[in-house]
Amino acid sequence: MVFMNKTDTKSEIENLVIIGSGPAGYTAAIYAARANLQPLLVTGFNSGGIPGGQLMTTTFVENFPGFPDGVMGPELMDLMKAQAIRWGSKLLESDVISIDANKRPIKIKTLEDEIFSHSIIIATGASANRLGIKNEDQFWSKGISACAICDGATPQFRDAELAVVGGGDSACEEAVYLTKYGSKVNLIVRSDNLRASAAMADRVKANSKIKIHWNTTVEEAVGNDWLEKIKTLNSTSELKEINVKGLFYAIGHTPNTRFLGNQLPTDEKGYIKCNPGRPETTIDGIFAAGDVVDSEWRQGVTAAGSGCMAALAAERWLSINGLSQTISRSHTEPEKSGASEFLKEKDTTEETFDFNSEWQKGSYALRKLYHESSKPILVIFSSPSCGPCHVLKPQLKRVINELQGEVQGIEIDIDKDQDIAKQAGINGTPTVQLFKDKLLKRQWKGVKQRSEFKDAIKTLLK
Ligand code: NDP
Repeated sequence: MVFMNKTDTKSEIENLVIIGSGPAGYTAAIYAARANLQPLLVTGFNSGGIPGGQLMTTTFVENFPGFPDGVMGPELMDLMKAQAIRWGSKLLESDVISIDANKRPIKIKTLEDEIFSHSIIIATGASANRLGIKNEDQFWSKGISACAICDGATPQFRDAELAVVGGGDSACEEAVYLTKYGSKVNLIVRSDNLRASAAMADRVKANSKIKIHWNTTVEEAVGNDWLEKIKTLNSTSELKEINVKGLFYAIGHTPNTRFLGNQLPTDEKGYIKCNPGRPETTIDGIFAAGDVVDSEWRQGVTAAGSGCMAALAAERWLSINGLSQTISRSHTEPEKSGASEFLKEKDTTEETFDFNSEWQKGSYALRKLYHESSKPILVIFSSPSCGPCHVLKPQLKRVINELQGEVQGIEIDIDKDQDIAKQAGINGTPTVQLFKDKLLKRQWKGVKQRSEFKDAIKTLLK
């Protein structure tokens, strides 16, 4: 695997930098890497949602060709990433904060560094919108979430009444998904129709656990430590209170173009303008692909297709301008990615438990190490469809690996090990807890930089 360190980026000029790690970014990387351009893909970290893009926060993707029985969104992204790496793409886990499109080579500023490249593909996608209702900040992650798929399995939502806002495919998918956990799901739709595809809308309407509130908006969140109810308003100005423990937003997205300043023309909604049906922007050597240019189709498969076009166009442009420096491969067939093995990790049992193993899974391993290990233990609480967990897990494994056996990692699936999740007070995934000598030393929620975990572990090892 080729991961970039900060210092690796300084001196050389890249052929192609791809900004963004959704289907468009990874497909562009696969094509450019197979053209021996060794592209550098900046995955994004905090801005514009999590690395991997919107499919990281979806459940089953049933319309991506090649998966007749559907594939989990995060799993599909793991596979794309593995494919990009297998062919020699370099990955940099950081956010791009600005580019200087007037300079040649183009200057790209990340959180830590400056990179220079002859060409770039912008594939930064779009981010989930928030409603901005009263008390939203107070109850954010304490009942309000923009990702039902990530947080739905948390104990607070079990058998509780929940609400989803929106009328698109995301809202419908999330409402159906939440019926697995909640006692009832209220779908709050601001108009009198669902924008979702007919198949998805039919599924919602046929589900007896979902109640649709038409022509209704959410005005306020109410509760104490946790969300208890929402106040809604309908088109006849009727104010209502609905008792819900969870409120999930699925109200569309805004394209991630802020880092561009005003260097590239965008439409009124902020989507980058390209030549119609083509990946070229108005600036030579800068291409764009995926949802950041597409306010209309916004599918995983269309994003992947446009990523492919952008990579082919960039390759052609580099070659015409005599700028590409291709690598030569020592082996024409790169090593297999091993991604399918990674995706099939099993729970540790009494038979498979290894006291010295760096990484194990499930409650058996946790109980054993918690009581018997003298080393720090890093526990990641995940759920099967949690995209951010897919981002965080390899990061934690790298930290543990770098600390050469001085710390042990365990993954707990909160869906499977509900009692442990309850005992540990987990209210969202991913949550990471760091234990030493049976004491909880630190807790993190969401995806964090590797250095945060490493520093905390090192303090315990002193
Ligand atoms: P959409 O833009 O399609 O839908 C957004 C929804 O939120 C609309 O119903 C909109 O209402 C509503 N909305 C927007 N702003 C507000 C607001 N301030 N208050 C209340 N409601 C609001 O976004 P999605 O995320 O649902 O879908 C994006 C794309 O991804 C689509 O192309 C979709 O097909 C695709 N997708 C596909 C999936 C699949 O195939 N499995 C799953 C999820 C998404 P209104 O209709 O009144 O504008």
